[in-house]
Amino acid sequence: MRIIDLREAAFPVQSTLRNAVFSFAEMTTSIVAVRLDPGRGQAPVTGYAFNSTGRYACGQPMRERFFPRLLRAKPEALLDAAGVLDPAQAVAAMLVGEKPGGHAERSIAIGTIETALWDAIGKAQELPTAELLARRYRGASMQQKVSVYVGGGWYRPGGVPKDVADEIRSHQASGYTHVKIKVGGAPLEEDLRRIECALRMLPGSGHLAVDANCKFQREDALLYAKALAPYNLRWFEEPCDPNDYSLMAELASVYAPPLAVGENLYGLQDVLNLVRLGGWRSEKDLIQVDPPQSYGLHAFARMVQALESRGWRPECHFPHGGNQMSLALVAGLGLGGCEAYPGVFGSFGGYADDTRVEDGYVHPPQRPGIGFEGHSALYALMRSVGAELKTC
Ligand code: MG
Repeated sequence: MRIIDLREAAFPVQSTLRNAVFSFAEMTTSIVAVRLDPGRGQAPVTGYAFNSTGRYACGQPMRERFFPRLLRAKPEALLDAAGVLDPAQAVAAMLVGEKPGGHAERSIAIGTIETALWDAIGKAQELPTAELLARRYRGASMQQKVSVYVGGGWYRPGGVPKDVADEIRSHQASGYTHVKIKVGGAPLEEDLRRIECALRMLPGSGHLAVDANCKFQREDALLYAKALAPYNLRWFEEPCDPNDYSLMAELASVYAPPLAVGENLYGLQDVLNLVRLGGWRSEKDLIQVDPPQSYGLHAFARMVQALESRGWRPECHFPHGGNQMSLALVAGLGLGGCEAYPGVFGSFGGYADDTRVEDGYVHPPQRPGIGFEGHSALYALMRSVGAELKTC
């Protein structure tokens, strides 16, 4: 098995929605295509991934550093004992010459390439990537049912608090039972009205989470924590700067319901800092690392294992990114659940076209690889990148 060629192209994510901090109007993402020769006379396969949403396209370091390093590496140096390409070895080859620390400068580019390799390996092995992950890291089979929740409640131009009720009604009609709405983009009083409108649509406060997208300085973070605590919500996400571990520890000491963070952390050390210094509570808090943005699926599995040895159950992980990459990871590693962005982020949001949400759960696809082929709008973009690949 060997890598034949790699390509990257940047695409707009096609969204004008806002959270508390920024609009997605200029946001782009990188699609990576990798062609793999499975060996043993098998026809080449093509794997794909994109760098999720919320971080811009990162093709330059891929083309200048990471693609050439993978193609220069001896093919046998990238294989496991069974002769199958090992994504962990591929990441090690891409890291040669990289200075430690400053992870986000490379973890997104490397993680997206690594995720595309998992898609290609699944196709070469004719197995869902979720099944490969389950066998390798859990010694088990993939989950056939995954809990999903809507990451929604965005601020829309001219919006009013009761809009979230209408939005939740439409998600419930599609089969969703749990939602998350934005906070911090309006005055506190208006945000509380949004929460109350949302709660009126739901059977209990455990069905609603809120996300401040790291908006708050200390004073406002504590103000919101005090105002939100009586609602006993499912979780309060990204209350402050994700690297301000002392403020997170202070919040965790005064805010009793669950807290959540992680989509702005880029590697095992960042997450260990969160649980050691950020006051994160293993019995209730959540961790939401984005798989392709933080060195890929192997790194995520290693993080889950490292935290498990410190008392964190796999169910505390809710990977960021409502897409098929995070869905495969949740199904493969038995994690808590997966975000979904119905109707948001154009071709880059959502799952395969035939995915049905039933009572808050989806059945992950059984297609070989990650399953992008079932998502026609996204797969059309991916194929346009794959068309540039060398064939042998
Ligand atoms: Mg968030």
